[in-house]
Amino acid sequence: MRPTKAHISLAALRSNAALAQRLAPHSKLVAVVKANAYGHGAVRCAQALSELANIFAVACIDEALELRSAGISKPILLLEGHFGVQELALSEQHDFWLMLHSEAQVQQLSDYSAKSTFNAWLKVDTGMHRLGLDIEKASAAHTLLSACRHVKQPVVIATHFASADSEDSDSTQKQIAMLNSFNADKNAPISLSNSAGILAHNSAHGDWIRPGIMLYGSSPLEYPHRDASALHAVMSLHSEVIALRTIAQGECVGYAGSWCAHRASRIATIAVGYGDGYPRSAPSGTPVLVNGQTAQLCGRVSMDMITVDVTDCEEIEIGSSVELWGEKLSVNTVAGHAGTIGYELLTRMPGRVPLLYTDD
Ligand SMILES: *Cc1c(COP(=O)(O)O)cnc(C)c1O
Repeated sequence: MRPTKAHISLAALRSNAALAQRLAPHSKLVAVVKANAYGHGAVRCAQALSELANIFAVACIDEALELRSAGISKPILLLEGHFGVQELALSEQHDFWLMLHSEAQVQQLSDYSAKSTFNAWLKVDTGMHRLGLDIEKASAAHTLLSACRHVKQPVVIATHFASADSEDSDSTQKQIAMLNSFNADKNAPISLSNSAGILAHNSAHGDWIRPGIMLYGSSPLEYPHRDASALHAVMSLHSEVIALRTIAQGECVGYAGSWCAHRASRIATIAVGYGDGYPRSAPSGTPVLVNGQTAQLCGRVSMDMITVDVTDCEEIEIGSSVELWGEKLSVNTVAGHAGTIGYELLTRMPGRVPLLYTDD
């Protein structure tokens, strides 16, 4: 069997969820498992979180239906609401909660002839300008939903932060103030915080927190943070050395010979490439852990392989273990070298990499 595998630690997942809950002890926890739980397998992650999460959240109804088919029975919040009236019927049938972000969605729900009550959240645009009703329209929508007999009261008022990951928190404070002022005369339950809000903005925990990336052990913050450093990587992407050679000074490695040896060098070829989710944009110099030692990527990332300079490493042989990212080498570090973020690397893991679950 190909040695390329992603190990998923369900104990780490639970420990990260418990940390989110400890940071916001008075809030209910919405575990965000969209995009196949950020590449970690939505069903297995939701099962593992069943005691810690009050509800789950996904981006679309297909993701919610996948969880229901697998026997997940908790409510599931659709973060972009329903797409069309037919999804209202499915949501009613399956107890999917709706984060309503537009007047059209609010109207559709209000006009829908329901047999039971819906859990509807109202998303307010407080500055991100991506989804949500602006303050004026949100007031009218809130009035409509409050009067709607098939909507469970009180309606949760929600917003999403644009820059909660940044050390400069002015814009986040503005968003918090805007939501609080919108809610002043309503006194509704509120939900603001993604992972960055949970970690860095205590005043924004509200009634429902919505952690995503932190559940998977990757910090969303642009700067070091004590609580973020207590997160544990859930995914460890592993492979092995499948070839070893020594090349002379001046010899070049890989496609287009983009890296050339400035000394006689020992080159290890690893069975992982962009076809396995390792970013092709990772440049020479990106750290790779070979047999527990930090070595450096050299030359271009191929589809199925990478080459690593192990000249300064000890006891490297065919079959030596390799960590591309995980507990010892943060996915954010690799992402930083590759010009992207941990979210992207985790979320786009391709199906060819088996996910191996452990309870520890
Ligand atoms: C994805 C998402 C989250 C989770 O965000 P993280 O940064 O991964 O914690 C929370 N709320 C909404 C509306 C989202 O779309």
